[in-house]
Order: sequence, then C-alpha cells, then structure tokens
Amino acid sequence: MKGTPYDFFVQWHLTERCNLRCRHCYQSGRVSELGYEEIRRAIDNVSNAIRGWVTEYDMQMSPSLHFTGGEPLLRQDIFEILDYARNCGFSSSLMSNGTLIDGDMAERIKEAQVSDVQVSLDGLEATHNSLRGEGSYQRTLKGIRNLVARGLETNINLTVSRLNMGETGELVRLAEELGVSAIAFSRLVPTGRGSKLSNQTLSRVEVSDFYKKLREFRGKSRIVVTSRDPLAAIAEMEGEIPQSEMPIGGCAAGISGVTIAADGTIMPCRRMGLPIGNIGEGSFRELWAGSPVLWSLRRRESYHDGCNSCRYWSVCRGCRAIALAFARAEGKEDYLGADPQCPYRSKS
Ligand code: SF4
Ligand code: SF4
Repeated sequence: MKGTPYDFFVQWHLTERCNLRCRHCYQSGRVSELGYEEIRRAIDNVSNAIRGWVTEYDMQMSPSLHFTGGEPLLRQDIFEILDYARNCGFSSSLMSNGTLIDGDMAERIKEAQVSDVQVSLDGLEATHNSLRGEGSYQRTLKGIRNLVARGLETNINLTVSRLNMGETGELVRLAEELGVSAIAFSRLVPTGRGSKLSNQTLSRVEVSDFYKKLREFRGKSRIVVTSRDPLAAIAEMEGEIPQSEMPIGGCAAGISGVTIAADGTIMPCRRMGLPIGNIGEGSFRELWAGSPVLWSLRRRESYHDGCNSCRYWSVCRGCRAIALAFARAEGKEDYLGADPQCPYRSKS
C-alpha cells in the first residue's frame, strides 16, 4: 500500500421528501427514489470500484458515504441502509435538518455507528425560521441537543448569505453552548428554490471579508469554525502558492467525490445538477474513469475566465455549482467559467 489514504466520498440523497420546505433548498422537486434492494446494489457498485482501485493500484482508500435528502430520516429503511454501508466497509455520516431527532432517534443513530451527524442551521431564530419555517429553529436545536447528549459527533452546517452573515459571532457562540464539534459555513448556491434568493448572495468583497472574519475565530473558539468552500482555504494560505498541475484540494466535484440523487442519477455535485449517468446502469468505476464532464473538472485547460490561469487552481477551482448557477441565470450552460464571487481572480 502506498501513501496516505485517498479520501473518497459519495454524497447520497436518499430521498427528496422533506418535512420542511426551505427557501434556499437546491432540490427543486420530487423525483422517484431507489428502493432498498436498488440501494444495496448501488452501494455494491461503488464498493466494487473502490476494491478495484485498492487491488489494482495498490492504493489506500478512506471511503465514506454521506447520506442526506430531502430529509434522510424520513426513509423507513435508513438504518438498514446504514448497516449495509457499514458492512461494506464504508464510514457513513448523516446530514439532516435535525427536526425529527428525538431521544429515541438519537439513540438509534448512535447504534448505527455513524461517524458524525451534520445538522443544518441557517441563522438565529428569526432568520432560521424565515428560511425554514416557523418553529423549525427550536426543533432543530432540540435535535442537536439530543445528539450531543448521546456523545455523537455533531456538526452544524450553515449556508451563508446576506440574510445571516451578520449573525456569525452569535452563531459560533450558540454552537459552543450546544456542545457541537464544529460549525461549518458554505456559500448559498442560487439554484433550485434558492435561485429566488440570488440577490442575497455575497459579493466578492463580502466573501473575502467573511472568510477573513472566520479566521479570527480560530484559536479563540473552543470548537472548530470552518468552511469547505475552496475560497475559504485560500484565505487561510497567507500568500503561500501551491505548485501542482493536478488538483490537490479545493472543489471536490469529480476529484474526490460525486453525488447520487434519490433516483440514482449521478452528478459531480448535487448543487450543480448536471447528470452524468445513473448508478443503476453500468459500472460506477467506468463512469468515474470515463465521464467527459468529470475529466473536464480535473483539467486546468478546460477552465476559462480566470481559473485556468490562476495560481490557486490546484487547490481551488472555485465552486463549480455557483459558477454554473450564475451562468444559467444569463442563459449559458457553462460550469467551467469564473466563480463570480471569487475575490482573487484577476479577470472581472
Ligand atoms: S480564479 Fe478560480 S482558482 Fe483562482 S482563486 Fe478564484 S475561484 Fe479559485
Ligand atoms: S461545486 Fe461547490 S458545493 Fe459542489 S463540491 Fe464544488 S465547491 Fe463544493
């Protein structure tokens, strides 16, 4: 076995059903969902690819499945799915709105041995309720408390926009009081129902200021205050320029993971909404190796409008979902252009 383990994940939307109807959700409607047997076969399909990479390329892999929805806890078979994934050697996490997690549910999640539970919170009470529905804030907080009380690693995910960016400090303090392990911020992607909030997305200057502010919490907060946004990683670099013509970090779409939608459709990232196949049709390994869309995401020369010539390309590439959402708003189907919120690109 060579090198450090290669993290590979599938973000798996088991259902588009949800008990909430959030204004910024990127799911735009209901689609059919795979049954339990189809999901087992789909997990086998991904598992076969990983086994092949391990045995043929002598790679160490750290594969994980991130189960989400809609609301994944609405699936009656969620615990059978988690069991099956674990027995196939995957580490699993759950991404939930938290509102269905009473004490019994938290206990069952603990027994399922998930690595962590990520709960979405979108601001302080008034902001969260305005985005996710009246009463949802208190139900989400109860869910988080139930998870933390059982010792489950619990993280808060927050989608940042102009609606909540002024609440960051109080949200970090709230996360500390709740006893979660981390609070992670990601940018609003104006797609699906979220396209109606496009005027609430941050400008380039606001993105830069926001991630600089997040850094200030580092070392001061007793929990992890972070973001998986590629642009946040650049704010961390303090001018250090990585030398690589291969992607070594940044946007994960097609590099270290993909998304599977409720009906089995495979996409580079759910927020991109760009179908490249279906997990029920053919070999996942062949799709990963042969998809022209995935290869375009891996090659610098595919990009344009700044990213292609950027010194941060190998560790960033921007958020392809945001690039596509803004391009679509102008009638263009272009996921390889500028991330319009990037404060670092020279071309405007
Ligand atoms: S130009 Fe592209 S690669 Fe460079 S920092 Fe901006 S989004 Fe990232
Ligand atoms: S497209 Fe955006 S949301 Fe999706 S993996 Fe890349 S950075 Fe993350």
